[in-house]
Amino acid sequence: CGITGYIGSGNAKDILLNGLEKLEYRGYDSAGIAVLNQAGVHVFKEKGRIADLRAAVDAGTAGHIGIGHTRWATHGVPSKENAHPHQSHSGRFTLVHNGVIENEAELKAVYLQDAAFQSETDTEVIVQLVEKFSKDMETEEAFVKTLRLLKGSYAIAMLDAETPDTIYAAKHKSPLLMGVGEGFHVVASDALAMIQYTDQFLELKDRDVVIVKKNNTVIYNLQGEVAKRDIYRAEWD
Ligand code: GLU
Repeated sequence: CGITGYIGSGNAKDILLNGLEKLEYRGYDSAGIAVLNQAGVHVFKEKGRIADLRAAVDAGTAGHIGIGHTRWATHGVPSKENAHPHQSHSGRFTLVHNGVIENEAELKAVYLQDAAFQSETDTEVIVQLVEKFSKDMETEEAFVKTLRLLKGSYAIAMLDAETPDTIYAAKHKSPLLMGVGEGFHVVASDALAMIQYTDQFLELKDRDVVIVKKNNTVIYNLQGEVAKRDIYRAEWD
């Protein structure tokens, strides 16, 4: 299971799919990507191999920002419906997640009694919470408010159709790195996924929140304290 994310001027679709192929060794049962462009968010997902996903992605899907996922099912059978990315009810938010949300049932009962869920995953609660909270606050705030409620493990990357210059990412007890390139940033579960695009990586720590834009990023923790993470050079093994 793994995550990829890209924001820059390149072709997000190809970079995300190439990255997911490099993560195949980690094991997975389904895969998906989402690309955001002026026409909106385009989500593609398939049960089975990355090659099947690649074949299902519309070749015309151009865009410079997107997220990708390989799933190892923990909640809900391996299927196209349960594959990530998952979207909020309005379609505004699109999210990928590795890990397990242990208090999913409790969060649904407290905050989302009336919501109809589109999948059997524990992940969907995250994206529905962000949408609910975003009615009263900025996306970044709604994202952090949601993260503070989560128990369990997560590596997350999220798109907001209304802020198409930003990937919202976070990590706790599941691996996530950020890669830095000239005029682009990536996020990935390991450096191997993106080393063909950059060898400069930042190792994120547990409870880190990352606001990722094309030319700059901000990292802080769930208490809101800005954090500095050292860049290291990844090497091909
Ligand atoms: N728990 C999530 C699911 O079952 C994510 C699994 C993963 O890490 O791939 O969809």
